[in-house]
Amino acid sequence: MGLVSRLAMADVRTTVNRSAATMCDEDGRSAAYRRLPSVSSIINDDRVRRASHLTAPVLVTLVQQELSALRHQIAQGSLTSAGNAVDSVINALERLDRPRLRPVINATGVIIHTNLGRSQVSNETAVAMAAAAGHAVALEIDPETNARGGRMEEISALLGLLTGAESTLVVNNCASAVLLVLSAVAANMEVVVSRGEAVEIGGGFRIPDVLRQSGARLVEVGTTNRTYIADYDEVSSERTAAFLKVHPSNFRVEGFTRSVATSELVGLGRTRSIPVLDDVGSGALLDTSAFGLAAEPTIGESIAAGASIVMASGDKLLGGPQAGLITGERRWIEKIARHPLARAVRADKTCLAGVAATLRHYVRGEAVTQIPVWKMIATPVASLEEASRAIMAALDSEGVPATSVGTESTIGGGSLPGARLPSVAICLESASHGATADELAHRLRTGDPSVFGRIEEDRLLLDLRTVEPGDLGALVAAVSGAWRL
Ligand SMILES: *Cc1c(COP(=O)(O)O)cnc(C)c1O
Repeated sequence: MGLVSRLAMADVRTTVNRSAATMCDEDGRSAAYRRLPSVSSIINDDRVRRASHLTAPVLVTLVQQELSALRHQIAQGSLTSAGNAVDSVINALERLDRPRLRPVINATGVIIHTNLGRSQVSNETAVAMAAAAGHAVALEIDPETNARGGRMEEISALLGLLTGAESTLVVNNCASAVLLVLSAVAANMEVVVSRGEAVEIGGGFRIPDVLRQSGARLVEVGTTNRTYIADYDEVSSERTAAFLKVHPSNFRVEGFTRSVATSELVGLGRTRSIPVLDDVGSGALLDTSAFGLAAEPTIGESIAAGASIVMASGDKLLGGPQAGLITGERRWIEKIARHPLARAVRADKTCLAGVAATLRHYVRGEAVTQIPVWKMIATPVASLEEASRAIMAALDSEGVPATSVGTESTIGGGSLPGARLPSVAICLESASHGATADELAHRLRTGDPSVFGRIEEDRLLLDLRTVEPGDLGALVAAVSGAWRL
């Protein structure tokens, strides 16, 4: 169908819808419907022509969508008199030209912010990922021998140096790691889990549901707050495929509690030839207690304690791209890699290049100075105070009244619940502006660059711990722009 006839059809549809609606609507609405321009007149509007980079058929579809949204608003009685079809189309065209996934400034104070894409990777990692994406790489072929294979060799070697694990398989994320491991190790068998660890990790990921999906049967032992080694012992039989430990990442039970250490469970498992699978979640490779935080289980500790398989996320405390690490004994990793589901959840070359580049920072001992998550955790408050003084001076010279306040950042991403790091925030008092804190926050989110802060007691706080030092100038410009709007 040519463009002209498509346009004609579009106009017929517009007219039909309009007249159908008119019959049952009052005069005001029918007048509003009549004021809607035709598809062809919008497409031929000079402003639309200038703003559009779309192909002709895509532009027709977009205009039809906008007109139908306007008709819907008229039907709801929510279209203001200012509603203008050409303006709506121009807005839609501008939205299309602005990628949703462009960089934003995270001033929320949540270091691993799931809704802002979790960990930012290091510069070196980002470069490695872009290079792998834009070029052919020796993903599955050994340059030495020209033989096929070796997709996981580099990462296995790096993680082996860091944790002592024999072998590693990287998949899409930790959720798929757990599903794959249970499917390969325990389908049609029993998996023993403490009641305190049969947890929900986040929207749609509950350990009992994942176990069911894998075909394994969940055997819960102990109580919510206390589980003993004898509880595991009592239920183990020849039907038991594994003991599963799950780190309750996003909550903490305090008081009268007892859980079984991985090493103790490994001891029992060895006497009965039952492997221990350990979902440590955040995938820390550094000791968080060195930064004034609670200790988060590390992959290395779990391997040292004798877990057969450890599962972890790539984009939490590891500080890499989204990935799931399955690491541990070679015989298990080989069995898991052969399972049909492994192909369904496998990681792409970009992800693998990113995980390898991130691990390289750890083997060189430079994670704290190169990986954003650890840089943010390690930044001393004095540096944040210094940055805040520079920002206040710059804002002052722009005529923006702001104060600097002490605050607390969090780790986020379901890691270290309740942990707080002292921080410094720039505070915009909405009272001195006339806009509410919500309005200011909206302007900052929708500005360029987009800035996400947090609201506390009708004050907008921009927490400096999570802002990249290189973004401080852009932050000042965004704030003064939003203030003046
Ligand atoms: C976060 C988490 C997961 C899920 O990890 P994703 O990488 O988000 O899929 C699974 N288990 C634990 C213990 C976690 O903390």
